[in-house]
Amino acid sequence: MTDYDDNNIFAKILRGEIPNDTVYEDEYVLAFNDINPLAPVHILVIPKGKYVSMTDFSIKAPATEIEALYRAIGKIVTDKGLDKKGYRVIANTGEHGGQEVPHYHIHIIGGEKIGSLRP
Ligand code: 5GP
Repeated sequence: MTDYDDNNIFAKILRGEIPNDTVYEDEYVLAFNDINPLAPVHILVIPKGKYVSMTDFSIKAPATEIEALYRAIGKIVTDKGLDKKGYRVIANTGEHGGQEVPHYHIHIIGGEKIGSLRP
């Protein structure tokens, strides 16, 4: 697993160096609209801690941070009304997973019927 890069774009967002369209924030979590949305709703949910990926987060994060991330997702999808018709959650991980930004993030995509993973 690669080391955390403090210059990744989400680290800059967390430091307030780059603006974001915040959807939700608490002590451990920030969620904001994706700059290049793939659907009517496309939100990125990130831990505030320095974790490179799903692997890094799931192995190293304390339970409070893991719980906070999942509770935040529950709140966001309910607030956005996505729970009624459904949505997709994606965590691209590493080279094979197509991860571009090396700070762990979960995509919440919805607001319309999302197509197959293999179109
Ligand atoms: P990945 O491929 O790493 O899972 O997804 C990274 C996501 O971050 C992409 O959907 C991309 O559009 C989004 N993204 C990249 N740079 C920025 C940015 O500066 N602001 C926001 N809001 N989203 C970004």
